[in-house]
Amino acid sequence: MNEGEQQHVETIVVAVDGPSGSGKSSTARGVADRLGWPYLDTGAMYRALTWAVLEAGADLDDAEAVAEAASGVQVVVGTDPAAPAVHADGTDVSVPIRGPEVTGAVSAVSAVAEVRERLVAQQRALIAEASDGIVVEGRDIASVVAPEAPVKVYLVADAAARAARRTAEQGGDSGQVAATEADLRRRDALDSGRAASPLAQADGATVVDTTHLTLDEVVAEIVRMVDAVR
Ligand code: C5P
Repeated sequence: MNEGEQQHVETIVVAVDGPSGSGKSSTARGVADRLGWPYLDTGAMYRALTWAVLEAGADLDDAEAVAEAASGVQVVVGTDPAAPAVHADGTDVSVPIRGPEVTGAVSAVSAVAEVRERLVAQQRALIAEASDGIVVEGRDIASVVAPEAPVKVYLVADAAARAARRTAEQGGDSGQVAATEADLRRRDALDSGRAASPLAQADGATVVDTTHLTLDEVVAEIVRMVDAVR
């Protein structure tokens, strides 16, 4: 075995799954930052394809049309936790993918099997490029993308806490929390109920409830889990 292969075998994948607003992004970026490892935001990849599908004007209720509109689109996602930019066919979509149009449509696009097959293959290729380790966040990382990951975390939080955090992140006021909570619950139901790789806690995943924990506490807990396997 040459040196490159040996490194590959020892790569530690930290899988961070969970519902919308459970704190996955801040947590995964924080862990990657602490460990000096790359960070892969798979949600951003689904969002970038969704942006392109909306630009193409495809009917979201027509899975074939969505698959067709998404098929030629090149998604490039950065893995630097400090600046994870996302491009779709060369356009920087880092800002519009967080907007309400994409957020409202992403669950429909990510339920399309062809879309998932392509992005999962791309995610596995990006993971294979990592050396010491990589932190990967999404919905199906521990169950589908990297079931061999030695560290599997399933983040949860009360819906009300998730909605309050998400509203604050988006600069909204307290009057918007109820609408945000309704949107989170709608996406949870779609993501958990779909046929292709539904959101679910994977076998062997450790549940971390972030409702009453600070970001630093959650990051420290996961770094401890990583230290225990290396
Ligand atoms: O994590 P984020 O909220 O950015 O994800 C946006 C959407 O992308 C989710 O609601 C889900 O529909 C989809 N997604 C997915 N599988 C992943 C990551 C995200 O289906 N691994």
